[in-house]
Amino acid sequence: DPAMRLSMRLIPYSEELWLLVARDVSKIMHLEQVRRDFVANVSHELRTPLTVVHGYLDMLDPTEQPEWAPILEEMRRQSQRMTQLVEDLLTLSRLEAQDTISDESVGMGSMLATLKREAEALSQGRHTVTIDDRAALDLWGSTRELHSAFSNLVANAVRYTPAGGSIVIRFARADGGVALSVTDSGYGIPAAHLPRITERFYRVSTSRSRELGGTGLGLAIVKHVLQLHQARLEIESEVGRGSTFTCHFSADRAHPRDGDNIGAGR
Ligand code: ADP
Repeated sequence: DPAMRLSMRLIPYSEELWLLVARDVSKIMHLEQVRRDFVANVSHELRTPLTVVHGYLDMLDPTEQPEWAPILEEMRRQSQRMTQLVEDLLTLSRLEAQDTISDESVGMGSMLATLKREAEALSQGRHTVTIDDRAALDLWGSTRELHSAFSNLVANAVRYTPAGGSIVIRFARADGGVALSVTDSGYGIPAAHLPRITERFYRVSTSRSRELGGTGLGLAIVKHVLQLHQARLEIESEVGRGSTFTCHFSADRAHPRDGDNIGAGR
């Protein structure tokens, strides 16, 4: 059967004998595909009604009915959350459907400037945001997907750091390659949670994450984007002191920055 997918393992049995164990995983793979398609379809179908609800909510003027103001505000907040959730689900579906990514020159100078602007917009002056751009390098990869990974890390740093804290976005050579890291002086993550933290909807504190507008999908997106770039995520964290999320890229993902190579091929 050409559609059959086998998973095979060779197990030593005795001095001369090995066992070849073949398992038919076509059904599992098919179910996984059905699950992916289902999530993608549901997310897509939710988009239009949400846009309509959002649009009408924006038209309602709270000054006409002052006692409705807090209710309208809450409805807007929740519909925004739902929109973000749908967008994140669609991003994850798109990432899961790919096994390679585009390989364009990603200008890290402007990437870092964009991340700083985003952090400041989210922080609204409650944190200090610093860029430490030490690597005069750019990356090969997908600007769109890398931006979504990095901006998720930045949004988390703002979200999980109390007012008065600091956020540093660093781009530097490390381990023979190059790394982008986001360091915050925030709540930190208990070590026991770290192994599962990049799973979808896994949260250290569900109520805190919801309260702060998280969807629970940010780090799953980060993990997928890095996988597509053969990059690795490292997390260091200390409760009460803060966290550092580092994206490690191998040396062949980096190239000298010259500012004129936009659109250039590898
Ligand atoms: P969420 O949308 O809930 O932030 P993520 O997948 O981005 O979802 O993160 C998963 C969980 O990891 C969060 O709910 C939070 O508990 C924890 N987390 C992520 N980033 C940080 C950080 N910088 N500091 C502390 N905790 C974090």
